This record gives sequence, structure tokens and C-alpha cells, in this order.
Amino acid sequence: MVLSRLTMAAVLLPAAALCQEDAAPRVVTPGQGDAPPSDAVVLFNGKDMSGWLSTAGGPSRWKVENGEMLCVTYTGSAYTERKFGSAQIHLEFKVPDMPQHKGQLKGNSGVYLGGATEIQILDGYNNPTYALGVVGAIYNQHPPLVNASRKPGEWQTCDIVYHAPVCDSQGAVREEGTVTLFLNGVLVQDHAGLKTREEMCQPGPLLLQDHSGFKGAPVTEIRFRNLWSRPL
Ligand code: MG
Repeated sequence: MVLSRLTMAAVLLPAAALCQEDAAPRVVTPGQGDAPPSDAVVLFNGKDMSGWLSTAGGPSRWKVENGEMLCVTYTGSAYTERKFGSAQIHLEFKVPDMPQHKGQLKGNSGVYLGGATEIQILDGYNNPTYALGVVGAIYNQHPPLVNASRKPGEWQTCDIVYHAPVCDSQGAVREEGTVTLFLNGVLVQDHAGLKTREEMCQPGPLLLQDHSGFKGAPVTEIRFRNLWSRPL
């Protein structure tokens, strides 16, 4: 009896659905330690800024030290030559200790997706500021669910699931983009819907912010390492 019900269900299911469910998932070997998984696109080679351009024009001017890229204020934001649609993205960052500053002037950088949406990077440890500008916020759109910041001077991890908006050929949004974000392993954005700007309808670079556009921005050294992505 049970068998015949299963057989009936199989007959009723579309053939495509059966194929999808039967297909073995592709094998991806997780990285050892903090190494990327086997199918990751490595965005930073740890040696130089190959593959990165500057918003000031030409190749990125950021320095590389000890396998880390170093954003110093007024060197221009750095962005990838590679363009992304939906992707899983991993990166690590370290903000400096800047006790003489507070709020948005303390360790400010950011990760831009689709050329338009900023995931805020800031010193979030004992540093009050507006909720839409806290580390882990989707800047000016969604505050983080919690403040999961580590202390300045400590490495922090950022794991992003970005779904780009789906647009029609006229650029009208059919489906909004979303971001899910883990900061230091803690969920801080849960499938948050994104305001769509026209440029997000096309694949865009990953951009790391030099905060020098902010009036009075102090010289800030933000370090990044271990950047990789997996297209979705
Ligand atoms: Mg910022």
C-alpha cells in the first residue's frame, strides 16, 4: 500500500523535479582552517593588488603587507575588476584603535555590493552611533539585528549572502535584492531587502571603502585579508 502511494506520487511529480531531487549535489571541499572552499574565486592573492582598481583611477594604490591589504584614507576606494551578481562572499577586516575619535570617524570603511549597497564597517566596540551606521548595518537601510563587533585591533569576519535584484530588460525590478550577513559568525542581517538602484540590475564590482569622502575624515588604516567569493 505504501509502495503504491509512493509510485503514484512519482507519477504525479513533474520529470524535471524528480531529476533535480535525484541529482547528487556537486562536491565542494571546505578549506582547512581559514582557507577558502575548493570552488571559491580568490579575490586577493595576498601579495599585491592584482585584480583591484582605484576609484581615483588606474590600479589600486593600496599597500600590501603580511598578506593583508591596507586601506589608508585618501588612497581611494578599491574595487574588483571582476563583477558580481548573486554571490557568497567572505572577507576579514581589522579596524585600528582610534581613542581620540568617536562615532562615524572611528574605523570607518565599508563593503559595497552591486556598486550601490554598503555594508558598514566601523569600530563597533563601545562606540555609540546611529543604528543605521553601526558595523553590520546595511547603511541607511537596515540596522544590524545585534552588535557583534570585536574590539579594535582584532580580526573580524564578514560572511555575506548577496542576492542581486532581478530586473527586466527595461531595468524594472521584478524581485528585490537581499543580503544575509554573519559578522564574526553571528547573524546580523537576515534576508534583508535592498533598495534597488539601476546599476544593481547589472553585475557590479565588490568595493572596499576609503572613507575620505566624509567631511573631516581622519587618517584611518583598515586592513583586509582572505577575500573570496562563490557565485550563486
Ligand atoms: Mg562606511
